[in-house]
Formats: sequence, structure tokens, C-alpha cells
Amino acid sequence: MEPEMGAWSTLEYIAISTESAASGSDFYLTSVPPSLVGDLPESLRQYIGAPLKVTSHEVTQLSEVHADRVCLLDPQAEKELSPADAEVFDAFVFGGILGDDPPRDRTAELRKYGYQSRQLGKLQMTTDTAVRATRMVIEEQQPLAKIPYVDYPELKLNKNESTQMPFRYVKGKDGEPYMPQGMLELIKKDADKSFDDFF
Ligand code: SAM
Repeated sequence: MEPEMGAWSTLEYIAISTESAASGSDFYLTSVPPSLVGDLPESLRQYIGAPLKVTSHEVTQLSEVHADRVCLLDPQAEKELSPADAEVFDAFVFGGILGDDPPRDRTAELRKYGYQSRQLGKLQMTTDTAVRATRMVIEEQQPLAKIPYVDYPELKLNKNESTQMPFRYVKGKDGEPYMPQGMLELIKKDADKSFDDFF
């Protein structure tokens, strides 16, 4: 994961924790800086135990994870993730890195582990979206092409301003991009802040 846990990542990890709890899977945050392990935001700490496990060890050091059953989610992988992969993999590794525009391929850092890899299409997803889409393919057995998406949504910040998010999201039942609780408010707040910084 990133060396620090910002507000954006915290909301994403809360969303992943909630969905992992609902589906009965474990969620490991690995390579967490030692100083941060005991100092996670309170809103995330409540998930520690089940489903969340937090460690400064690298994913390769987890004894419960068997390298030949691990899938790295990598936008540059040759193969697409498919429902049949539920038989192939027990663990899925995602880069705990924020998206950037244009993407800088920081997932490359995880290729050194030599895990098998799969992509979820070529468009960059937020980390919680990538986890959500993986869960839909593996646990709900939906082919990737059947998942409804919203690409590069335009978010209205206030009466006069909007911003375009450079990511692919799963489409929620209301037709809106599925985002962690509180994310829209955070994006609006950050936009206000950068507007203030400007003057
Ligand atoms: N800018 C980063 C990069 O270029 O690697 C993208 C980081 S993305 C927000 C965080 C993680 O979600 C990635 O490391 C990857 O594991 C997963 N991810 C996002 N989009 C994906 C896609 N289209 N296919 C596979 N994995 C994806």
C-alpha cells in the first residue's frame, strides 16, 4: 500500500471491508508501514479481526497464502478474469495505490512476486471497484462483459462546477457509479480546498 493512508484510501478500504464481511472473505492489508499498523484511522480499525487483517509483512510472507493460488489483478495482464478462475485462485492481490491520470503503471511493483495475473479490462478502476468487479466475477460468477459499468463519470460538485473522474466504476442500481460511502462528499470537499488554494 501507499506509505500513508489518506482519506480517499480509508473510504475505499472501509468499502472493501464491508463487502468482504458480507461475503465471508478475508481482507488483508499488507506491506503497511510499521508506524501505521497500530495507528489506522478509527473508522477503519473497527473492522480489524474480521474481515480485516493488517500487517507490515509483504503478501509473500503470509503462510496462509499459497503462491500458486494467487492472482494479481493487473490492467496489463494478458488474460481477462473469468468465472472459471474461481477454481484456479484462492487469493487476489490488488495494488493499494491510488489511481492517477494518466495511469503510471504502478501495479508494476507487484509483478516482482511472479504471481499469475488477470485483467478486468483495460480501463483503470479505483481499487475498491477492482475488488468489487473481481468479487462479481469470482463469487457471483458473472462474466466480466456482463457487469454494468459507468466510465469516466461526470460528478456535479455544485450548481456551477463538475469534475470528471478518470476511472471505470460498477454501475449501481440507481444508474450512478458505485462509490464508497462518503466519497462524493470527500471529492466535493477536496475540490473546494483546491479552489481555495488557487486564490
Ligand atoms: N495508476 C495505477 C496503475 O497504473 O497501476 C492504478 C492503480 S488502481 C487504482 C489500484 C489497483 O486496482 C491496481 O494495482 C490493480 O490491482 C487494480 N486494478 C485497477 N484497474 C484494473 C484493471 N482494469 N484490471 C486489473 N486490475 C485493475
